Amino acid sequence: MKKLKSQIQKKLETKNLKDILLKNLESSVWEEIAKRCLSCGNCTMVCPTCFCMTVEDYTDLQKTKAERIQKWDSCFTLEYSYIHGGSVRVSIASRYRQWLTHKLASWHEQFGTSGCVGCGRCITWCPVGIDITEEATKIRKISQYQTTSMEEI
Ligand code: SF4
Ligand code: SF4
Repeated sequence: MKKLKSQIQKKLETKNLKDILLKNLESSVWEEIAKRCLSCGNCTMVCPTCFCMTVEDYTDLQKTKAERIQKWDSCFTLEYSYIHGGSVRVSIASRYRQWLTHKLASWHEQFGTSGCVGCGRCITWCPVGIDITEEATKIRKISQYQTTSMEEI
């Protein structure tokens, strides 16, 4: 166990992270991530705690067969947030923000624990190298800077 622990290279400070993230929903960091994110959904497909799914209905023209299929989906698709009249998360920034804040913030409200088990799969399988630990840390740092600046005023 000790040996395994020593092999862990990444760390994420989780103290107050939920509040920090939820207070920074308008941070420029989301837009900066969106410039790199392909919205491919790889991270959601490999994450052990992702559960987004969709339901599709099929019928044949003879009205003899009807089928309902449940299949995996991803909050990174435009269609996933489609509500009557259109999608509510049209930008990649809003979709990445939804994903990260769900994992590290709103899961706490929903299930009483973090939505991230620290497996690192999303980091491994991101084609452009986006790292959830780095992005969350960036937001923490910006938040700390803003708090310090406000206190100094
Ligand atoms: S590191 Fe966290 S967010 Fe990424 S795949 Fe694992 S559980 Fe999901
Ligand atoms: S795997 Fe990377 S590029 Fe693909 S949606 Fe996730 S963060 Fe964006």
